Order: sequence, then structure tokens, then C-alpha cells
Amino acid sequence: MLSDTHCHLDFDNFDNERTEIIDRARRAGVIRILNPGINILTSENALKLAQQYPEVYAAVGVHPNEADSWDEETVNRLQILAAKPKVVAIGEIGLDYYRDRTPPEKQLKIFKLQLSMAAKLGLPVVIHTRNSSSDDQKATSDAIKILAIWIEKLIVTNSELAACPGVLHSFSGDLISAQKAITLNFCLGITGPVTYKKSNELHRVVGSVPLESLLIETDAPFLTPNPFRGKRNEPAYVKYVAEKIAEIQELSYDVVVETSQTNSERIFLW
Ligand SMILES: [Zn+2]
Repeated sequence: MLSDTHCHLDFDNFDNERTEIIDRARRAGVIRILNPGINILTSENALKLAQQYPEVYAAVGVHPNEADSWDEETVNRLQILAAKPKVVAIGEIGLDYYRDRTPPEKQLKIFKLQLSMAAKLGLPVVIHTRNSSSDDQKATSDAIKILAIWIEKLIVTNSELAACPGVLHSFSGDLISAQKAITLNFCLGITGPVTYKKSNELHRVVGSVPLESLLIETDAPFLTPNPFRGKRNEPAYVKYVAEKIAEIQELSYDVVVETSQTNSERIFLW
């Protein structure tokens, strides 16, 4: 039994095919799929899918690249969505210095607002960080600094959430950032690039951190793992991520699947 802890099933890449894709996922042993929003519309669509398919769950939030869509109504609308059954997290939220679609100050502002909202609602967070290049860790390190302050307050107000605060999804930072995130009790979401030959730093990260700190995800339709790299990604392919983690950590596939499942249950309470 697998969970795909990050998949954009609502994206139009999957239009007219969602039921088949979910069937294929089911046959591949995927029992849960977390669909995060990137703005209000996609958060609403994620919720609709969660209402339609038993294995789909939703996260609601505004992605840093969508920060321009933010207005004074957004917090209210997100809070209403977040209160619905099967909404298990706030996300994806964070910092993206790769695309300069939104100025960093604006990204920081809405990131912090949504973290406060998550603390108030008692929900874990799905964090997106993307650095401007692999030699520059600024987006990841800025996000971790903000998360450290958030966790410090959370320890006082909600120690349970502070113990399982969420995931740095599709983790692409270096080992130092990975260790800092884990110290803050965050899990790292591992995606298709772990199956690529040249992902040296990611291999080092996966080889150095405890399995208890890893979640498996596809980020479909993006980041397709080998052997399907170049094609559209889908939740059934999450098993290739689990296989690669098992290979790197020299553990059995079953142990990786079981442990990552337990990890996801600890965070999303699903
Ligand atoms: Zn995503």
C-alpha cells in the first residue's frame, strides 16, 4: 500500500482521464493521493476531487508563483476550504527563487500569512522551495529560517503539530538544509529526480537521513521517474521512487513503503 503525497490531479494534463489514472494507481497499490492547490481555484478543484474519489485528499494554499493572485479575501476563502472534510494540510506554500514571477518580498509575505493560518487551524504544511540554481540554496535556507521561527511558537501553542509539522515537498536542497529541516521535525518529500543518474546531492540526502523522515510523492504531471522520464507523470509511478529509496538505503521495498506510509499518516492524520 502506497500513498502519493503530492500530485496535481486537478491539472488539465489529466482532463478526461482522471478515472483511468486513479484506477491505474489503485492497481499499483496506491491507496491515497494528496492533491495540493496552488491558488484558490485549484484548491477548490482539489477539494472537488477529494469529494469525488475516496483515495484523494486535498491541501489548500497559494503557491509562491501564484502570489499575485493573493488579495484580502484569500485568507477567508482558504479558511473556509480548510475546514472541509478531507482537507488535510495547507499547501503548497513557500518560496520560489527559480521563477521570478513574483517578487521575493511578496512571496515571503504570503508564505508567513499562510503559516500563521495553518497554526491557527492546527493543520500541517506542504512546503515548496525552489532555488535559483543548484549552487544557490537561498530559497530553501530562507524557508527553513522562517519555518524555524514558526515551529518555535508552535511548540508553545500546539506541541502535537510542532512534532509533525509537515513536509518539504520534492526536496531539492543540499544535505545541510535537509538536516536542518529534519531537526525541525519536517519530513522530506522525495520525487522522480531521485531515480536520475545525475542527482548526486539528492542521493546523498536520501542515503544520509532516516527513513522516518521521508515521504514518497510524484508531483505529477511533473518530474516523471525513470523508466518513464520524458513522459507525463502519474500516481502509479510513485513505486519507482520507493524502489530507488530502498536501493539507496539498502532496505527492502516493503520496509520503505510501510515506513513512508506510517510517516504520511503521522503528518496528515489520514
Ligand atoms: Zn506541486
